Amino acid sequence: MNLTDYIKDIPDFPKAGIVFKDISPLLANAAATDKAIELLAMGLHNFQATKVVGIESRGFLLGILLAQHLKLGFVPVRKPGKLPGEIISQNYQLEYGEDALEIQANSIQPGDLVIIHDDVLATGGTAEAACKLVEKCGGVVVQCNFLMELDFLEGRTKIEKYQLHSLIHY
Ligand code: IMP
Repeated sequence: MNLTDYIKDIPDFPKAGIVFKDISPLLANAAATDKAIELLAMGLHNFQATKVVGIESRGFLLGILLAQHLKLGFVPVRKPGKLPGEIISQNYQLEYGEDALEIQANSIQPGDLVIIHDDVLATGGTAEAACKLVEKCGGVVVQCNFLMELDFLEGRTKIEKYQLHSLIHY
């Protein structure tokens, strides 16, 4: 089975000039989803992780399944204003302007060993902000893993100090 068969290119989405990688066909196929989780787990080598952090929103989809597969708890990193209780925030740069991500302050304990998951690594700003949030909580990032990496955007340079694993490279 080739996972790329289940990822659809959508030209000019969400705006002109962007080719969006749509994982809906993969999610709609149980065997393909299973395969993706199995391969993400195999890419972990022998890390002793304690939590999986998924990034809003498509990072929640395979992130929760990966956490369940590894028998680990799942922690969401979300856009501002979505999470209740005490929050830790991290700003990051977009192509034009700035955005922020948030995590619940007590969701990661000092010493937690964390896998960060998202569907796509593009310019790397999102993943870098998620890593910083985990570290602000006292956690250690043991790996960042992605279903897809857009190599030409060189996002991995922003998170090169972390272990990095992507299943599919474009
Ligand atoms: P970055 O911060 O530029 O690395 O962007 C990564 C974020 O944008 C991830 O949360 C992705 O879900 C989203 N993203 C960027 N490009 C795509 C795409 O082609 N398909 C789906 N999501 C994308």
